[in-house]
Amino acid sequence: MITLPAYCHDPFSYRRRKTRVVYIGDVPLGGNYPIRIQSMTISDTMDTAATVAETIQLVEAGCEIVRITAPSLNEAENLRHIKAELHRRGIRVPLVADIHFTPNAALKAAEYVEKVRINPGNYADKKKFATREYSDNEYQAELERIEERFKPLVLKLKQYGVAMRIGTNHGSLSDRIMNRFGDTPEGMVESALEFVRICERYDYHDIVLSMKASNPLVMIQAYRLLAARMAEEGMDYPFHLGVTEAGDGEEGRVKSAIGIGSLLEDGIGDTIRVSLTEDSVHEIPAAHAIARPYNARLATPDQVASLPVRLSTRTAPLPQESRNPYGYKRRPSDEVRLGDLQVGGTQPVRVELATTVPLTDVDGTLAQIQALSTPARSGAPVCEMVRLQAISDADLEAFTRLRQRLPEAGLSVPLALYLPLALLGSLPTLPEAAKLITAPDAMLPEGPWYEQVRRGAALVARHGMGLEWTLTLETIPHFLRATYGATLEGLAYTASRLVELCREVAVPGIIVSLDMAQPVAAYRLLAAHLDSKGLAVPLHVKTPALRGRTETLFQGSLWLGTLLCDGLGDSLQIDSDLPTAEAISLSYNILQAARLRMSKTEFISCPSCGRTLFNLQTTTERIKSRMSHLKDVKIAIMGCIVNGPGEMADADFGYVGSGPGKISLYVGKECVERNLPEEQADERLIQLIQTHGRWAEPV
Ligand code: SF4
Repeated sequence: MITLPAYCHDPFSYRRRKTRVVYIGDVPLGGNYPIRIQSMTISDTMDTAATVAETIQLVEAGCEIVRITAPSLNEAENLRHIKAELHRRGIRVPLVADIHFTPNAALKAAEYVEKVRINPGNYADKKKFATREYSDNEYQAELERIEERFKPLVLKLKQYGVAMRIGTNHGSLSDRIMNRFGDTPEGMVESALEFVRICERYDYHDIVLSMKASNPLVMIQAYRLLAARMAEEGMDYPFHLGVTEAGDGEEGRVKSAIGIGSLLEDGIGDTIRVSLTEDSVHEIPAAHAIARPYNARLATPDQVASLPVRLSTRTAPLPQESRNPYGYKRRPSDEVRLGDLQVGGTQPVRVELATTVPLTDVDGTLAQIQALSTPARSGAPVCEMVRLQAISDADLEAFTRLRQRLPEAGLSVPLALYLPLALLGSLPTLPEAAKLITAPDAMLPEGPWYEQVRRGAALVARHGMGLEWTLTLETIPHFLRATYGATLEGLAYTASRLVELCREVAVPGIIVSLDMAQPVAAYRLLAAHLDSKGLAVPLHVKTPALRGRTETLFQGSLWLGTLLCDGLGDSLQIDSDLPTAEAISLSYNILQAARLRMSKTEFISCPSCGRTLFNLQTTTERIKSRMSHLKDVKIAIMGCIVNGPGEMADADFGYVGSGPGKISLYVGKECVERNLPEEQADERLIQLIQTHGRWAEPV
């Protein structure tokens, strides 16, 4: 574990990272200002009318900052006309020029825009993917060369009062950085800091930083590391967040919600862009859906809007988290058997979903179990455990009837059944389920509370079943509240007592879940507390009840994805009113975005911009329709050869525009087919995947 200042205020309670305010034109960014929403046009920058129309469309949708690519001096010069036309129409949105490889375009654009984005990986270096060792002296000489190239831009931006984004991308680091640090979060951070230090030497501070990657895990780690390293160096520049090449549709939104959302959850991030391979205007509602809950917290005093972590009277230190925020490691947990399903340990993170009809509607419940456990198409993943709820004798009787009908319906999916603890303890024999779920009765005095928990747990142990304790702040026993209060610490302590009691009576599979309005901090503290006591029980991570597709998609991805990227969770559950097929698809998309379970091809497609050499949206759709069944294969679809190969990071195969109507194909970073006619490229890509033994016929 790297020893650094904390990357965030507190992993258990939200507070926004303190930054200076940087003005992008008239728009203040950072400090206590709202998280700003931005996007990038995909029109040809030389097409003034189209770029202006697209910019206006973005502004009308709620975009606060608009980026436009300037690949050469011509486009940089045309920014003047775009700006003039926008002003003529009364649109004053700040414009950002996007620069790669062309310092002269940056210098020209600085005269017309409010911010210039540079990529430190290619501002002063041509990308050669060359391997060589740099001695310390050679490295220093390189830094001096870069400063010579970069200094004119710094001075010009300072003179014109224009801001700068130093935007590092995973995969497009300079050869110098790659050779010393590798394509790692550490390399990304160092790449940016080298440029920041040059800015500071010339007393220029209107800087925003970004650390984008198509893999949310890499991007989360890089931003956290950047926050910690900047704290170490006394820097307080705001951050622009984004998952680059996120793709389109639900997958693109899920990846963005996880990457951007987990950082916002840590209080990191001052402006965001959701990159989608779709019309740019579609990015705006997605970005608002991610930022809205955090901007709503601005209204609360000191931006503290978290659940109470502990009573102020408590002085014993909170347990240390064992997770490494700068690198992924799954929390070690015991493997338990629940019916035919293994959960925890090295097993894949399991997908559970609940039925939504009352159990007494046996036909309706049966139909939902069928829908949840039957693949939508051949080879498609399914829900691996179905959760049901029995709160009365009538429900229990219905459960028995349901069980009897499962074999004739050909259904064998493991079932989890919620039962109130009082009901569970009073039964002579338990209903046949792979896992029982229950919660302790907070109102009981200490003696009866222990007695009820022990009796219920002993019954479950006798039947050799799994037992999940599902807890809320309300389930903290009243006799513990004088010490712990209704706090996250009280919740974690209650969970550890329940686990210890279950262990005393040898319950074979113990699991803990929380039902919390803000689950991230609660699960983090729960895990830290259980780990400090050596209780490696699996965690079932679930969302609170979510309503509607937008809330479920963004909030569900954000919460579950954050926890999974933290290494927490052995099974997951989205609690929503989504139709079953959509809930299953979302669950697996979250697992895929967190790179924990690959159930289909991983597509990395750039959002397109004025450099794009083919229709990215239709091409992506076409390639997806033929190649989306390849588990464990990552295919990048990139609009241009200038940036594409650098930015496709960890893709196995690349489809990159290399000229009008021309495609080059890559295996990893190596170009293996150059300038193929576009009509032949799909077939050649399939042949390439076959040659490398990665192809499977669709079933
Ligand atoms: S890779 Fe795509 S988004 Fe990036 S510069 Fe090229 S065309 Fe534009």
